[in-house]
Amino acid sequence: MEELLQKLIIKNRELTQKGEVASYIPALAKANPQNLGICVTDLDGNIYKAGDYDKKFTLQSISKTISLMLALMDNGEEKVFERVGMEPTGDPFNSIVKLETIRPSKPLNPMINAGAIAVTSMIKGENADEKFERLLNLFRKITGNKELEIDSEIYLSEKKTGDRNRAMAYFMRDVGIIEGNVEEILDVYFRQCSIKVDCIDIAKIGLFLANKGVVPDTKEKITTEHIARVVKTFMVTCGMYNASGEFAIKVGIPAKSGVGGGILGVVPHKMGIGVYGPALDKKGNSIGGYGVLRDLSNELNLSIF
Ligand code: GLU
Repeated sequence: MEELLQKLIIKNRELTQKGEVASYIPALAKANPQNLGICVTDLDGNIYKAGDYDKKFTLQSISKTISLMLALMDNGEEKVFERVGMEPTGDPFNSIVKLETIRPSKPLNPMINAGAIAVTSMIKGENADEKFERLLNLFRKITGNKELEIDSEIYLSEKKTGDRNRAMAYFMRDVGIIEGNVEEILDVYFRQCSIKVDCIDIAKIGLFLANKGVVPDTKEKITTEHIARVVKTFMVTCGMYNASGEFAIKVGIPAKSGVGGGILGVVPHKMGIGVYGPALDKKGNSIGGYGVLRDLSNELNLSIF
């Protein structure tokens, strides 16, 4: 398996030249566009790695999977989906336009920024610190990595420049989708996006979802099979931004990408996959990471469809 992964990294590293690292969060622009790495873990306990699998990057939108899980656990499905829809959007992840044009006003799904901010606003806790600690602890349990922390430089960089997210959040409070202190909600959201990980951490998140909400190493049941299924379904329909349909056809596994260059992949009942390559394609997905996942899926026949 590691030989195959190495081969796919070498082949797809060429693609990275065609992509660009995200720069709208200034600190993300420091990433090395040539980096490309992968980790695959399976339910037999194997961990296979290749390329730059140990390079650190921030979760960014990948965090939306677990924040959704926690909001569902805290509030129940009915309350969460009163405020956030279940439909994919053909718009970019940070699009603002449909917030006002759709009636009743609500973000289309929890994987776009507006929906994810609304989801984060529903995480329970006395204050921003407590809410974030609860989320961070979940990530630590799921990955088995007690050292997970935020990357302060990236967190502060996004907090300073995240005016589009700020605009959406204030708009959502105006129309009653979110309640409470907007700056505090955004602070939790910016922190969750800045959690620093590597491909192994991401693969472990994937394996936990593949294993229906139970951490394979500790056997701890963190969430229900149903909530794990809801999260994986959103990954299929909305996880790869406005390329989710194409990705479902070409790769065919539940996945969630982030502008930091990570992609979380789940092969239900089998594998968790973590990929990193900060050079992004036009839609914001890791260009090399997408290629590696496509080739791996073809080689091992991983499509769920
Ligand atoms: N923190 C990023 C933002 O809100 C996450 C975007 C992403 O990874 O898609 O803009």
